[in-house]
Amino acid sequence: MQDFQSLGLSRELLLAVEQEGYTTPTPVQAQSIPPLLNGRDVLGVAQTGTGKTAAFALPVLQVMNRSKPQGKRHIRTLVLSPTRELAAQIDERFSAYSGHLDIRHKVIFGGVKQNPQVRALEKGIDVLVATPGRLLDLIGQGYIDLSRVEFFVLDEADQMLDMGFIRDIKKVLKLLPKQRQNLLFSATMPKSIADLASSFLHNAVKVDVSPEEITVDRIAQKIMFVRKADKRRLIVKIIKQERVSKGIVFTRTKHGANRLVKQLAQSGINAAAIHGNKSQGARTKALANFKCGETKILVATDIASRGIDVNDITHVFNYDLPNEPESYVHRIGRTARAGKSGIAYGFCDDTESGYLVGIQQLIGFEIDVDESHEFHFVGAIPKPDQKPGKIKTGKSSNKPRNSNRKKSGNSNPRRQGKTPSSNRRSGDSNPKRSSRRRRNRNRSRSNQDR
Ligand code: AMP
Repeated sequence: MQDFQSLGLSRELLLAVEQEGYTTPTPVQAQSIPPLLNGRDVLGVAQTGTGKTAAFALPVLQVMNRSKPQGKRHIRTLVLSPTRELAAQIDERFSAYSGHLDIRHKVIFGGVKQNPQVRALEKGIDVLVATPGRLLDLIGQGYIDLSRVEFFVLDEADQMLDMGFIRDIKKVLKLLPKQRQNLLFSATMPKSIADLASSFLHNAVKVDVSPEEITVDRIAQKIMFVRKADKRRLIVKIIKQERVSKGIVFTRTKHGANRLVKQLAQSGINAAAIHGNKSQGARTKALANFKCGETKILVATDIASRGIDVNDITHVFNYDLPNEPESYVHRIGRTARAGKSGIAYGFCDDTESGYLVGIQQLIGFEIDVDESHEFHFVGAIPKPDQKPGKIKTGKSSNKPRNSNRKKSGNSNPRRQGKTPSSNRRSGDSNPKRSSRRRRNRNRSRSNQDR
């Protein structure tokens, strides 16, 4: 088996990975580090949880350390990340890996005061990790100069595009010098990302790791049919019965997340919410308490939870079934990381049975139904001929946004329910392919209430 030494890493970085307790490079590290050390661009299809941060941070740090420019420090590496959480995580990894090097790094993002960020920039840094909005803001104010960047890393590129950052990325690209090394990482590779990649990567080495294909198989999935009004009692019962020590609960709305946190507290369960309306301080604190085990349950909306890297989540609860089937795969992928197994419960009430049909068509098999609980509600069970996403309430706000699924003519055999469990292993539960459909759908959808 390959070790870090054989990848060509220097003594200082080998020491850092040893201190982190890493013994074997992950596939994305084994494939990315040597070409990056040799000056190549890299296009990586990999998501959070695969070790991709070390895959780019280690070689970038090593090459930067080889030649140190004279005079005041300037930004030599720029890492762009879509979310504040992910940016903070990347920066924290740079701290861990650069412990034996004279490299200064800083993370900047919105939602917090800019003054401490400006002060750090004025002192001089080597590595800047940033979200696009605050980066462009501080560039506009004259605090950031990108003209001497040697490494440009675009992380979670598909999420960047989903979040509408394409113009910002193009603006940033214009400010970078021509001579530089580029890295692009994305969990999926739809045409829009491939086009973006080819616009600035040169002769890139392609690295492809697809962890979801493996992890989905290690997740025990269960559906529970339940009245909306009984969901709270059901979740409390499971959390207590199964002594859940690290569970993530997905609600559709921010308001729903807040409400559930309060209700869980009334039942003696310590939970915290993470969503877009929380201040950055509250989000960071909630995540830190969850990681260290002080908070057992994190209640999240989809947008806030993407990219969160917590390895030992045992339970995922789809308290509200997602109205986009692909979100289901992303959500349950929060568990069964790093070789562990996990359990994913989906609560389906009578307004959500159409969503369940859509989810099952996407993943290619029927999820086991758990009827053993006292709240089992037959009224929520989908009708045999029910259409995906069809709901009974008639409320327009509940309508699934994936309206052009029908237009696609249902040519995909999975959508016709023809290929059952074999697809699990062949990766059809992988969001890779499906995300193209997702992106092609209502791109400008509002994320306001997530
Ligand atoms: P990432 O995908 O970069 O967010 O990393 C996911 C998690 O894997 C982080 O907690 C890293 O500390 C950890 N990790 C990264 N590389 C390795 C490795 N080679 N061995 C064990 N853990 C690793």
